[in-house]
Amino acid sequence: MLDCDVCVTGAGIIGLSIALELHRRGARVTVLERGTALREASQAAAGMLAAKDPENPVELTALSQLSIARYTEFLVEIERLGGRPVPFQTSLTLQALEGNAFLESTGFPEGFSSGKLRFQQLSEWSLDPRQLAPAIRAAVEATPIRLLEDTAVQTVGESKDGVAVQTNAGEIRADRIVHAMGAWSNAPVKPRKGQMLAVKMPHGVPIDFVVRTPEIYVVPRLHGPRAGQVVIGATVEDAGFSTTTDAASLASLRAMAAEFLPVLADEDACPVLDQWAGLRPFTPDYLPLMGWADGSRRKLIATGHYRNGMLLAPGTAKVVADLLEGKESVVDLSAFSPSRFLEEQSKID
Ligand SMILES: Cc1cc2nc3c(=O)[nH]c(=O)nc-3n(C[C@H](O)[C@H](O)[C@H](O)COP(=O)(O)OP(=O)(O)OC[C@H]3O[C@@H](n4cnc5c(N)ncnc54)[C@H](O)[C@@H]3O)c2cc1C
Repeated sequence: MLDCDVCVTGAGIIGLSIALELHRRGARVTVLERGTALREASQAAAGMLAAKDPENPVELTALSQLSIARYTEFLVEIERLGGRPVPFQTSLTLQALEGNAFLESTGFPEGFSSGKLRFQQLSEWSLDPRQLAPAIRAAVEATPIRLLEDTAVQTVGESKDGVAVQTNAGEIRADRIVHAMGAWSNAPVKPRKGQMLAVKMPHGVPIDFVVRTPEIYVVPRLHGPRAGQVVIGATVEDAGFSTTTDAASLASLRAMAAEFLPVLADEDACPVLDQWAGLRPFTPDYLPLMGWADGSRRKLIATGHYRNGMLLAPGTAKVVADLLEGKESVVDLSAFSPSRFLEEQSKID
């Protein structure tokens, strides 16, 4: 007797978005989480839905657009199930462009200085991942999805009717399994640390837009419990699974942000309210791993979303649920094939 139709491993935004979509389509879902749901990368993120970031690999375009098209519906469904609204925080991004030519800042918001860079205004949303996390949790808890926390996946084997998942808390039998363990997924996925800080929004200089350069971003919180904070991020570090922060890195982020929003240099006007680090699931070509892991079509992988997991979650959930229903993906997944690193993987194993 199977415990569920689909077992999802990892309760970050990717795993839980997939679980909610599968539940919506009538599947019996169990999610296994080695710690507490949504405590890792998915609550460390800045929350930009950065579909138009010129730094994104071009292969992400279709999945990004699919996600953006589904985002409002995704948040409405989360609120319908769990009763917690998740508003978009901002809808404008000032994006630095390649090259150093000075662009007249006429029309740019008050308090903003374009310095030596050229900036473009983009219509793009952001949200607060720390507002989204409890909302997703409430939505999941309002469904029959079984979320088993403190339950670490140890091995996955085949059984006569599906897969047998061994955990520290016993065995789970499922028809199919989806691996969504973020930075803790197998090679070639690696953790890439990002440190961030949140400072108080300066009085009298309302920042209601995102500023993004290749080095830093500034993301204000305008609604909810963190309204009045400005998040400044983020470092990109290969530091194993360490999530420590250090004063020098955070000071450097603040100084770079102040080049464009000079008021952020003023530590009295904008004191530090919080600081943290999270682990992005990184792959060598900066693209996710999405698709079947084996010929038997029992194991699917959905991980490696690196800097864009918040953005890509609703699109990933649709694609994964379609594959599990035997449908074609609506976006071309060839660049995301889990088998593209097989050679490298066998060297590592
Ligand atoms: C500083 C920073 C800023 C970011 N900013 C943005 C942003 O602005 N926009 C954006 O789109 N993205 C952003 N990201 C990226 C985004 O946060 C990630 O891509 C996304 O959270 C990945 O989600 P996930 O569910 O794959 O991973 P996670 O949220 O890390 O979840 C993986 C889960 O798997 C669990 N797990 C691991 N091993 C096991 C096991 N053996 N058994 C069971 N469970 C296991 C973990 O405990 C964890 O809960 C940022 C990331 C960081 C760190």
